[in-house]
Amino acid sequence: MTKKIKKRSEIKEEYKWHINDLCESDEKWEDLFKDAAKKTENILSFKGKISDKNNIKNIGKIIADCLKAKDDAGLLAETVYVYANLRSNEDSTNSKYQAMSGKADTLITMYSSVCSFIEPEILSVPSEEIEKALKNTAELSVYKHYIKDILREKEHILPAEQENILAQVYEIAQAPDNIFGMLNNADLKFDDIKDEKGNLLPMTHGKYISYLESPDREIRKQAFYSCYSAYLKQKNTLSAIYGASVKKDVFFSKVRKYNSALEASLFQTNIPVSVYHNLIATVNKFLPLMHRYIDIRKKKLNLEELHMYDLYTPIVKDADTKMPYEKAKEIIIKALSPLGDEYISNLKKGLSEGWIDIYENEGKRSGAYAWGAYGCHPYVSLNYDETINSMFTLVHEMGHAMHSHYTWSNQPYVYGDYTIFVAEVASTVNEALLMEYLLKTTTDKNAGEYLINYFLEQFRGTLFRQTMFAEFELITHELVEKGETLTFDGLCKIYRELNVKYFGNNIVIDDEIDREWARIPHFYNAFYVYQYATGYSAAIALSQKILKENGASDYLEFLKKGSSEYSIDLLKTAGVDMSVSKPIEDAMEVFKGLLDKIQ
Ligand SMILES: [Zn+2]
Repeated sequence: MTKKIKKRSEIKEEYKWHINDLCESDEKWEDLFKDAAKKTENILSFKGKISDKNNIKNIGKIIADCLKAKDDAGLLAETVYVYANLRSNEDSTNSKYQAMSGKADTLITMYSSVCSFIEPEILSVPSEEIEKALKNTAELSVYKHYIKDILREKEHILPAEQENILAQVYEIAQAPDNIFGMLNNADLKFDDIKDEKGNLLPMTHGKYISYLESPDREIRKQAFYSCYSAYLKQKNTLSAIYGASVKKDVFFSKVRKYNSALEASLFQTNIPVSVYHNLIATVNKFLPLMHRYIDIRKKKLNLEELHMYDLYTPIVKDADTKMPYEKAKEIIIKALSPLGDEYISNLKKGLSEGWIDIYENEGKRSGAYAWGAYGCHPYVSLNYDETINSMFTLVHEMGHAMHSHYTWSNQPYVYGDYTIFVAEVASTVNEALLMEYLLKTTTDKNAGEYLINYFLEQFRGTLFRQTMFAEFELITHELVEKGETLTFDGLCKIYRELNVKYFGNNIVIDDEIDREWARIPHFYNAFYVYQYATGYSAAIALSQKILKENGASDYLEFLKKGSSEYSIDLLKTAGVDMSVSKPIEDAMEVFKGLLDKIQ
């Protein structure tokens, strides 16, 4: 029996976010839009000025003015964009907000295309002149990190004519990603599966994982076979597309004079390649813990043979605890108290002053997210359904929101965002603190084991699985760098060996799983997923540090810094050094503790 979903107008105001804090009204939005468009156009008046050699004496002031104009327009455009999208996410059936969000899209595209001259022009100025300007121009000091970051690219920039060709090649280079998207989302067809009564269950990408989580083993098994037989039918196409994608990465890294595709990718956020290798080596060292988890899983599920389709289903019955929103709020306030009084008072503000849109309504965007625009408070959208999971979602999204709140209150607009490398740290620290609190206060055995299962699965899915992906990407790119060709069978063999290594001997590594690489969209954005694993370890290590040291002042400093430093340095501020194995070891210690508790 499904409950009827309310219309937005039927939801009490106290459960909705205060969208008017961002922009008073739709009429005001129209004014902001015009203003943002005008300010965006104004940026063009700087075009050609930075690269003009006649301006060299005054270059610091010109760059500062140009960047200021860029930020002024950016801030407005962002507000316009966020307001229109939050409005349209409230109720996607509202055509007025759909139109506004379309208009905002155009504005953002115009903004980024207008700004595209700035970085190349800054790069065209001789380095010593930039250094001089940075020293002598007060207005430029706020942009120091931003400019230094642009200058790092200098040694990888080619002469103008070659850059011009590369710019055109980039478009063609999108092909593997686009083709994979078309095949995977449009053309690939799965066979439907059946429940025990013989009713057809539709099989889709979206449904696949929920079938794998099913307590009904027959459903898990059917979904697993349906999924991988579909990929097998496209085997030659899939390996050709992936092979082309890896070749593309290697090509660009070579022409831009990097030592490897890995180095080229990590260069974007200035992460040393040692961080990547360190992650893989350290996780490898702890694989016996993963094998132990597999043993426990097999025992708890009471199975003769554990198969790859038995990995996602919970090993304990759902705790079924009702968690009303008001109670969840009380719990998270207690659970996050190790972060200190100041954090808690800001959190309470966030929980009570209209940051959050709590309940589901007709047409509201599914899932949950935290978002917002600099200059206002952050916003959080939930579809709160009174489960333990939705309490974790609340604490997770509030982690993002508080990170933005601290950053926006302490940084200028230019450093108001954060990179993917650190993006999930604040949210995961909050989840880990909530978990520790619940494990300490839950007395019911089944409820306790349910929580441990939830936590163990996070470790498996985020730390182990993403590192295995990272290892796969490293192997495939190194092969192509050595001049080898990636074939379907070759890729399956690499993937199988990784599965054997990660999961051990106590599980049947079904042949179907050898093809899993073929369905991972992230592989078309190479060397990206490792950041989930490093971010997760950093956050778990930090949560332990906060609990042990009874204080979070370093961590709060990190939240305040936004993107004003490189990610690795930001995490060092918080107290974890991701270039060494310690944080990953600390996280593994937590994983081991959970295994000890549940076995
Ligand atoms: Zn998140």
